Amino acid sequence: MVVGITGGIASGKTTIAKELEKLGAVLVDADQIGHDVVDNVAEVRDRLREAFGDSIFDAQDRIDRSRLGERVFGDGDALGRLNAIVHPHLLEELRSRVEHLASGPGGKVIVIDAALLVEWKAQEWLDYLVVVESGAERQLERICSRDGLTREEARGRISSQVGADERAAVADEIIGNDAGLDDLARAAHDLWLRLEAIRK
Ligand code: ATP
Repeated sequence: MVVGITGGIASGKTTIAKELEKLGAVLVDADQIGHDVVDNVAEVRDRLREAFGDSIFDAQDRIDRSRLGERVFGDGDALGRLNAIVHPHLLEELRSRVEHLASGPGGKVIVIDAALLVEWKAQEWLDYLVVVESGAERQLERICSRDGLTREEARGRISSQVGADERAAVADEIIGNDAGLDDLARAAHDLWLRLEAIRK
């Protein structure tokens, strides 16, 4: 069973995904795949250099993700160029890892943690899509404290994603995350029980 967990930035996707992992799910982290693609796929590195110049590379010729982030967040065209270069490779790798896991010994629940599942229309190939929702104020607080961004920068990152309505329209279920971490862990546990019931 392949389950997607998506939602806005800092909505709580990874926290839920890690709880599901403790309960027995196999996790696939789309951010990590994105990092692998940017670091290791020569064609992607070449096209990023063409699009954004040498300044996004550090002294060891590795892509400096924070410099790249500064270039693209707040500039919709630049973000679109970055996504057009990286996402096809990321999606190909993501689907190949999921297929590999799914082809192994049966009965696994594979959980994909990814902010952009709806932008990628992944609902078309997922068995179940969970959207995690947090109020805008909570999201802003968490982004500012975790990533050290200003509220303005945090707003820019939130507005670069699809809106909550668009996600809700294709979700199999929505989990609200406006209370504490204990409540979120309980919600993950309840979700796990539902997934087990659906799988049977
Ligand atoms: P991203 O989109 O950046 O990958 P995410 O949606 O995966 O983020 P998390 O990493 O799970 O979100 O959570 C973001 C931050 O907010 C983390 O530091 C996490 O511990 C904290 N957090 C999440 N939910 C809660 C909550 N209910 N109460 C307190 N802190 C929370």
